[in-house]
Amino acid sequence: MNATVSIKHVVIVGGGFAGLACARKLAKSNEVRITLIDKNNYNQFQPLLYQLATAVLGTDDVATSLRESFLGQTNVAVKMCEVTAADPKTRTVTTRDGMTYQGDFLVLAAGSQANFFGTAGARENAFPLYSVEEAQRLRSRILSVFEDADREPKLVEQGALNIVVVGGGPTGVEVAGAVADVVNHTMTREYPDLAVQNARVYLIDHGHALLAAFPVDAHDYAARALQRKGVQLKLGTGVKEVRPDRVLLSDGTSIPTRTVVWGGGLMASRLAADSGLPRGRGGRIEVGADLSVEGFPGVYVLGDFANIPSAEDDTLPQLGSVAQQSGVWTAKNILAEVAGKPRTPFHYHDKGIMAMIGRDAAVAAVGKKRHELEGFIAFAAWIGVHALLMNGVRAKVEAFIDWAWSYFTKSAPIQVLDRGDEGQIDWDEGKSKAA
Ligand SMILES: Cc1cc2nc3c(=O)[nH]c(=O)nc-3n(C[C@H](O)[C@H](O)[C@H](O)COP(=O)(O)OP(=O)(O)OC[C@H]3O[C@@H](n4cnc5c(N)ncnc54)[C@H](O)[C@@H]3O)c2cc1C
Repeated sequence: MNATVSIKHVVIVGGGFAGLACARKLAKSNEVRITLIDKNNYNQFQPLLYQLATAVLGTDDVATSLRESFLGQTNVAVKMCEVTAADPKTRTVTTRDGMTYQGDFLVLAAGSQANFFGTAGARENAFPLYSVEEAQRLRSRILSVFEDADREPKLVEQGALNIVVVGGGPTGVEVAGAVADVVNHTMTREYPDLAVQNARVYLIDHGHALLAAFPVDAHDYAARALQRKGVQLKLGTGVKEVRPDRVLLSDGTSIPTRTVVWGGGLMASRLAADSGLPRGRGGRIEVGADLSVEGFPGVYVLGDFANIPSAEDDTLPQLGSVAQQSGVWTAKNILAEVAGKPRTPFHYHDKGIMAMIGRDAAVAAVGKKRHELEGFIAFAAWIGVHALLMNGVRAKVEAFIDWAWSYFTKSAPIQVLDRGDEGQIDWDEGKSKAA
């Protein structure tokens, strides 16, 4: 009886890298029970979303069932619903359907969403890449414009096949490389009647270097690797406006396109504004070194949703490895609190960062050293790093098969337009504007 009474309830919002790692670690303890809430019933693997968008991987390679992750785990309840508000004083969250969940501990790990920095038309017309749904929308758009132009070749003159990627960080560089590969290898083969050679992939950034977070000589390497694939770089150039049929740039020029991929910045997901907690840069929640929030006992915030202090007096970057480790650390601190022991400050073990530039080039930074990897070695190293982070054996095996197929055949195997393009392409409108 006493044992039952002392079991503490931990409510976790977000089943991404951070929330899932926290729940997994806590689930091993019989002193807590966990309610894991996510607006989806799956865990999504964000680092691979661009491969879903470019048809290299399928949805089930990048999304795994949260319920399956906790099969037979009687102290974990998974609830699929969107949390719309949080009361950190009582550690209670309210969901869109009016349910409330109250915990002895509240863990907020709701991740990121695109930050459009107020750019006109970007919210309406650009394609961000932070969820499975967004990646599916982008894939539908890319396939739709090629299908439409194949029937009506005049659309090519309207820029139908141009793809503009905004942002020269790892997301933008990886997307631009992958899109260029798909255009160069898959589309040329699959659309023999279409002037695919007129397709242009652009990468735009208002800064003057790609991969700014990497060591300096990685910047040039990334630029050269992308240019080899035909990507046109427009650095030192900002995006002024995204229209349905073109993007207007700060240098006064414009690029006709129906596909603008937004990798231009991220901020805490919407719940942060309704969490009643102190926010800082990127709208993220300010946390202490132990990942708790000062003044709100029992509340922890982690992963992309938090500004986590780093040893260098700055904050840690928004990375899967930071999120995963912060999840495990939070679980340890909660179990310490349950046992009446002190919490300890989060120590991030930095194993380095890596960006894949298409199928045959990658750059990795470990400490201050930069490593360039080419060809199969690059591909194999990248797979190794990502397979380790992936959730579930089945997803890993399926992804391996798709990756291998894609690498050796130089094709994107999932070229299936299985959902409509919701982006309202109005080609007539495009014609009149372009005229
Ligand atoms: C295209 C891309 C490539 C990347 N590549 C890399 C890489 O190579 N290496 C690396 O380390 N990192 C990479 N990252 C960053 C990494 O994916 C993130 O740092 C990581 O996903 C953050 O984990 P998280 O758990 O904080 O948030 P997420 O993984 O975003 O999880 C948040 C969860 O919260 C849920 N949620 C949000 N709001 C609510 C709500 N109101 N109610 C209920 N549920 C909610 C979401 O559905 C989601 O499941 C990449 C990111 C992107 C977008």
